[in-house]
Amino acid sequence: MSDIVPEIVEDFFGVYLLYCINPRYKGRTYIGYTRDPNRRIMQHNRGTWAGGAHRTNNKGPWKMVMIVHGFPNNISALRFEWAWQNPTKTIRLQHLNLKKVPRKESEFKFKLRVLSEMLRVGPWFRLPLIIRWLETEYIEEFPPERKPPDHMTIVQGPVKSRNLKRKLLNTTFTEECLLCSNYINIGQAKTTCLNPSCELLAHITCLADLFLVPGEYVPIEGNCPFCSTKLKWGDIIRKMKGCAQPGEEVIGEECAEEECLEEECITEEDKADEYPSWFLDCNDDL
Ligand SMILES: [Zn+2]
Ligand SMILES: [Zn+2]
Repeated sequence: MSDIVPEIVEDFFGVYLLYCINPRYKGRTYIGYTRDPNRRIMQHNRGTWAGGAHRTNNKGPWKMVMIVHGFPNNISALRFEWAWQNPTKTIRLQHLNLKKVPRKESEFKFKLRVLSEMLRVGPWFRLPLIIRWLETEYIEEFPPERKPPDHMTIVQGPVKSRNLKRKLLNTTFTEECLLCSNYINIGQAKTTCLNPSCELLAHITCLADLFLVPGEYVPIEGNCPFCSTKLKWGDIIRKMKGCAQPGEEVIGEECAEEECLEEECITEEDKADEYPSWFLDCNDDL
């Protein structure tokens, strides 16, 4: 489809499905979030050094088969991504008990079934989403009883994102926040995941936005949007400040509580570049 002119979409927030075409891992899938699908698929197929996700490294080539876009912001898209990856932990999907049918259903078909259910429940059924097939040979029709709402569109063909970069205050930068896709300027507080093999790198404010529950001013905890590790906000702050890590094992800890994934819970996007005082002191009782 490389001869087709890609459709240009501004303010792009997408959640994509990768399909592995490496014979050794054929049929494996991966769900991810991106603001630039064309760059992201190249990263997945190149490996860690190019910013690829740990789980896709050395298993390529991968094909980005489809992408859902039209989310109003990164938080909305990241919550969609998490729910698609974790249907049994997602409150809005729990009653459906979505599990892959052993031997009868491929991973790919299962992911599409989960998607078809997600698009028909709140908060997502209200969003003006576009379901875009990027690889025509993988197109599957939604079954009549699980069609997306009429206001959503199903399209095929390549897409190119055009996102306005925030004006740079400082010309020296090397890193990019994986949540908002803006550069992380010198002096801006950034964070990584507590899971050492996770590639998460983000502005601390972007992660705080993701973890904030309405009515609260300080995040408590949340799941890493890339590896699903449960992260306690206090530990994140301590790590960012270079303070000693608590002895407890965070990696692989079973998530007992459901984080709030409801669309209504999204807080106003943090537009400021200033940081509130709550994350500057790691001795604070967070
Ligand atoms: Zn950011
Ligand atoms: Zn992580």
